[in-house]
Amino acid sequence: MADFKTSPGTRDILSPDSARWRAFQGVFESTVEAAGYDYIIPPMFEDLDVFLRLGEATDVVTKEMYDFHDKGGRHIALRPEQTASVCRAFVEHRPTTPWKVWYSGPNFRYEKPQQGRYRQFDQVGIEALGVDDAFLDAEVIALAAKFYSALGLRKIELSINSLGDSGDRDKYAKKLSEYFAKHESKLTAESKATLLRNPLRVLDSKREPDQEIIIGAPAIRETISNESREHFEAVLSALDALKISYKINDRLVRGLDYYRRTTFEFVSTALEAAHTAIGGGGRYDGLVEALGGPPTAGIGFALGLDRTLLACDAESVFAAPLKEVDVFVVDTVDGTHAHELCHQIRTHGFSADRAYDLRSIKAQMKAADRSGARIALIIGSNEVENESVMLRPMGSGEQYVVPRQDILNEIAKYTIKTNI
Ligand code: AMP
Repeated sequence: MADFKTSPGTRDILSPDSARWRAFQGVFESTVEAAGYDYIIPPMFEDLDVFLRLGEATDVVTKEMYDFHDKGGRHIALRPEQTASVCRAFVEHRPTTPWKVWYSGPNFRYEKPQQGRYRQFDQVGIEALGVDDAFLDAEVIALAAKFYSALGLRKIELSINSLGDSGDRDKYAKKLSEYFAKHESKLTAESKATLLRNPLRVLDSKREPDQEIIIGAPAIRETISNESREHFEAVLSALDALKISYKINDRLVRGLDYYRRTTFEFVSTALEAAHTAIGGGGRYDGLVEALGGPPTAGIGFALGLDRTLLACDAESVFAAPLKEVDVFVVDTVDGTHAHELCHQIRTHGFSADRAYDLRSIKAQMKAADRSGARIALIIGSNEVENESVMLRPMGSGEQYVVPRQDILNEIAKYTIKTNI
């Protein structure tokens, strides 16, 4: 027999974690919908070309893409992130601007799986297209900060930088290239290879020998235009106005090549070094144009769900919600009473569960405990004869008889109807 297991870098998310994921998405939804962002569901795969626009020098594109030819001969890729898809959707549908959307769902990257790094991982995020206003940059950053705080996270640090516009970035890449070339002999082999592809990426290296050289590297903000500098200052003062603390980090360039001007990253100081980055984003003013649309400003962020939950564990906050059901029906006669009663209870807007296969009363009561029910309704032959049920508030050690026709009123005393 084959021994089937999940593929490396993927996981089954079972209860109670799955309930925690849903609650996480729920908190995100209410945070961003309160700021006017609409839900978008982009497809999980696109023509490879859409993602190539992320920049052919990025690892996500060159090394980590799940791409294949479909039966129609199209070159397809599973999405490694969702910003490119949102921009492609903007070009395809031309919505009125500002277009503010949020998303939640899995992405796929062929990375080396480890704690906090998976091949299928979930992100929640927002994108806002068509507005260049520095207040929007600050709004986007503030929403991420608000979300983290709604989860209960406190040990979060925000780093921010400006990459200037695309001209500035090219000038900087050249300057950096010259600097690293001068110190090439001291760089690690990995960084030497990165240098050939994209000098900016060398700044991401956490390797000790590279760090010594990186510390002396020129900062991008020395090369940025006055316009970009003014924009950056306006973003910072808009953050100050909201009392959002940040650290300016001259070395923050982030993984994807399309970023322009404002770029930011959130780090959890409660996590171990390898996976402290729990979210980030920035402006990508050239991306819509690269996908065939009109010049359009854009800014957004993506927050890693998996890693943010690890940060929640590290701070002991945002536990999985308790499993709950209003009623658990215990039928020791023949199962038909539980069958009909559950149906009646559910039809009237309460939740109900039961045991199957006519287990012993002890086994059924254990199942009632596990279900998180507030009350158990117990039906034995006496109750059938008297057209009643025994109602036991769970954990109280008490029970009392309720006439069958009063059951719904009695249940209502213990629960709040939610889903009529
Ligand atoms: P990025 O799209 O690379 O800017 O990543 C944004 C956030 O997504 C990161 O800060 C991580 O929290 C998360 N993330 C990115 N790649 C992975 C991965 N392979 N596994 C888990 N989380 C990831």
